[in-house]
Amino acid sequence: MTRIAWFRHDLRTIDHPALESATGHGDEVVAICLRTPSTWKRHGWGPRRIQWYDANVRQLSSDLDALGIPLEYIQVEQDEDPARRLAEEAEACGATAIHHGLEAGLDERSLDSRLHSLLDARGIEIHPVTTETVLPVDQIATKTGQPFRVFTPFRKAWDVLLKRTVKSVDPAPGTQTTRLELDMGEPVDGWSPGQAAALTRLGQFLDDGVESYHKRRDRPDLDGTSALSPWLAVGAISPTTCLAPLIQRHGLEPDQWPDGPRTWRDELVWREFYRHVMLYNDGVSMGRPLQAWTEQVPWRGRGDELESWKNGRTGIDIVDAAMNQLVATGWMHNRLRMIVAMFLTKNLLVDWRLGESFFGDQLIDYDFASNNGGWQWSASTGTDAAPYFRVFNPDTQAERIDPDGSFRSRWLGERIPPPPQHDLKSSRTTAIETFRSAREAWNRSTGIEG
Ligand SMILES: Cc1cc2nc3c(=O)[nH]c(=O)nc-3n(C[C@H](O)[C@H](O)[C@H](O)COP(=O)(O)OP(=O)(O)OC[C@H]3O[C@@H](n4cnc5c(N)ncnc54)[C@H](O)[C@@H]3O)c2cc1C
Repeated sequence: MTRIAWFRHDLRTIDHPALESATGHGDEVVAICLRTPSTWKRHGWGPRRIQWYDANVRQLSSDLDALGIPLEYIQVEQDEDPARRLAEEAEACGATAIHHGLEAGLDERSLDSRLHSLLDARGIEIHPVTTETVLPVDQIATKTGQPFRVFTPFRKAWDVLLKRTVKSVDPAPGTQTTRLELDMGEPVDGWSPGQAAALTRLGQFLDDGVESYHKRRDRPDLDGTSALSPWLAVGAISPTTCLAPLIQRHGLEPDQWPDGPRTWRDELVWREFYRHVMLYNDGVSMGRPLQAWTEQVPWRGRGDELESWKNGRTGIDIVDAAMNQLVATGWMHNRLRMIVAMFLTKNLLVDWRLGESFFGDQLIDYDFASNNGGWQWSASTGTDAAPYFRVFNPDTQAERIDPDGSFRSRWLGERIPPPPQHDLKSSRTTAIETFRSAREAWNRSTGIEG
């Protein structure tokens, strides 16, 4: 008997519930991963993200080898249905079941339901489980059973479910030295693929960073965050693996944890919140704003404003330095992502979807749900977004988060010729006025308060 473990955004062998359930029957297990460039393109993946995914699949293959499980990385062509291809592969190898992780995107859910029918027709079982998040985001609901639209109550409900769900915490996989003997792959833009590299990074952060995270996390000039996002984005490490050592250290009531770990836990829960939002709002997967009234904002499209932003030539040092860091390394600090996104969508009034897509082109940690959530937050179009009249002043932010200017000097180099000046005050006023008029127009035309 053969069972298939299908890997998606969970490219690891440690803490992988689908792999565990596939191997738990004593049957032969074959691992499958689909390479779907045309879907990836539609979902906004850039070359870096593709290279990173491929590199992590190669690492996964060698980690699975060590367990005696072969991995097939199957290229799915543009005119092929990935669900059909997978069902045919399962039939061809005489599989009795497919075990896999669930995903929140619209295309992924539709693929799953097609796969379900195709496997049903062939008499093959399907076992979906949660592999991407700590908790199943579809089991978190308001008291009246509705999905959440605001982060803090979501987090409170998440805490309650965590306490109910976790019976015991196994020794943190990150501390199992045998696991760290897995080999490291060829780096992509300086990032080493695979779970061994991710666990090493987690170990360093838990030793040196997490306790002071709350004090240092807004400082791009310091190494104050975990920098685990590239691995979390492809699932080379699970968020449960990240949290388990903290639960062991501080217990099952994250609200009682010291400030550093508690704040870091919040960030991991934001990741789960945006998946929850994507699961219950199909518009997220279709380029629509969550606040319908913001459809009325007369966004600028492609043009000089967008180009100057992409090229790090807006004339605002912190924005330009951050964009240079992004293009050079494929990564950007969270506070800077907020600053550059707000600058593009407010001061330049450029459509947030163009910024969202440029991030997809560049980011090694590109993650559809978190990226969309971050952009909609910054553009004030999202569920739990910054109110439209709250516009960061990037210069003031820069003084606070890069006090001695070291981040800016590192990423600006010599500015020849210097970019034109940008008048932050007047662009802020224009943005607020434009949003206010859009909202009033919406209220008038629909009779609904936006
Ligand atoms: C406009 C914008 C776009 C973004 N695009 C992405 C993206 O494509 N991929 C991505 O992983 N994150 C994205 N984020 C969220 C956040 O900026 C990154 O996750 C974070 O900077 C990664 O650095 P880190 O691993 O050191 O994070 P840490 O601060 O160490 O946090 C730990 C982990 O929590 C998660 N996390 C942290 N902050 C957030 C957040 N605000 N929303 C969701 N998850 C979070 C990440 O998985 C991160 O690795 C975006 C944020 C904004 C404002």
